[in-house]
Amino acid sequence: MIAELICVGTELLMGQILNTNAQFISKELAPRGIDLYHQLVVGDNPARLTEAVNKALARADVVILSGGLGPTDDDLTKETVCAAMGKPLVLFENEWQKIVGYFEEKGRLVSDNNKKQAMFPEDAIILDNPNGTAPGCIIEKDGKAAILMPGPPRELQPMFINFVLPYLDKRSNHILYSREVRIFGMGEADVAFRLRELFSGTNPTVAPYVKTGEVTLRITARCSCREEGLSMVTPVIEKIRDILGDFVYSIDGETLPMVCHKALIEKGLTLSVAESCTGGLLSSAFIDLPDSSKYFVEGAITYSNEAKIRRLGVKDMTLKRFGAVSIECAIEMAAGMKVRAGTDLAIATTGIAGPSGGTADKPVGLVYVALATNETIMVNGFQLFGDRDRIRLTAVLNALDMLRRNMV
Ligand code: ATP
Ligand code: MG
Repeated sequence: MIAELICVGTELLMGQILNTNAQFISKELAPRGIDLYHQLVVGDNPARLTEAVNKALARADVVILSGGLGPTDDDLTKETVCAAMGKPLVLFENEWQKIVGYFEEKGRLVSDNNKKQAMFPEDAIILDNPNGTAPGCIIEKDGKAAILMPGPPRELQPMFINFVLPYLDKRSNHILYSREVRIFGMGEADVAFRLRELFSGTNPTVAPYVKTGEVTLRITARCSCREEGLSMVTPVIEKIRDILGDFVYSIDGETLPMVCHKALIEKGLTLSVAESCTGGLLSSAFIDLPDSSKYFVEGAITYSNEAKIRRLGVKDMTLKRFGAVSIECAIEMAAGMKVRAGTDLAIATTGIAGPSGGTADKPVGLVYVALATNETIMVNGFQLFGDRDRIRLTAVLNALDMLRRNMV
């Protein structure tokens, strides 16, 4: 399907306002496979707008217009487009009542000028505008359509998302089918570089989203049915898995805690947790999920040195020589927790969440995570960044990632 965009407004031509509507609309059209070959800005001038509309209707299936739906005399988009399409305007009584109600609610007086905002061709599709007075509309003729929306972005954007996109999807006779791949332990730039060939595809498209500490890829196919979508998207997911290996931790929305939770239950392993800087967040990540009682035996928040010694058996010497935030302490925490709880696995966290307490040797964000299994104890050091909340959250995610990769 071919679309064309016309933004109406002399102030756009004069450079008084930036044409953000054009950017917004184009960005939404591209991933849907709707081709946009021309964008145009026209001033508030009926003759030039008529010319633009006629030209656009001749070469595109759908003409999208923004601006000029207001009550004043220089707002003439609807009148001009309807004249060009040979569609007389009639008053839509219910739309008029909505406009009257909108004014009453705001304690303002409605003027007769506003009546023109309730005038549409008889067979127009009206697009509700809860954020302003001017409804948008879709006018169809000879298999083509003109879509008119108000200029203010806060009115246009929700209208476009809620009404226009579904209309375009229906009209173009295709659906969008998408699946999600989640990645942990690799930055967005690295992911983008390794997958650069896939990122340039147009159908399916691969788009990255970054959330605290992780990257999600959405793979979207434009297709005629779900089955076709699945067959288009699956090979792309396979390719991503081939390239990124076990940095991919889930498909279709499972979170890191869920992945660990499922694997623990499946493997019949038990778990205990000893936390310092994460202060219960890691235990919570498991206990948030129903059925965690199947594997979660015990968690301890051992924040002070004294608690690390008393509850986990960390050696006084270790704390004196290496400090609480150290590889040695993390190992003793995990080992001590594992023995005391009698679990197959034990994880321990210790770190400096900040904002104070950092030194040149041990800066804010330094976190050690130790994992004790039935065979070995391993420890990883992370230099995390951000504020206290972010450091603690990413410490939890790194601990979960370590568990998922080493669950034996
Ligand atoms: P109103 O009822 O507010 O007059 P309208 O549909 O008649 O709405 P315009 O008069 O064309 O719209 O524009 C109103 C305001 O909307 C402009 O002053 C500008 O702030 C914003 N606007 C219009 N067109 C665009 C655009 N293409 N990009 C960004 N902002 C726009
Ligand atoms: Mg206006």
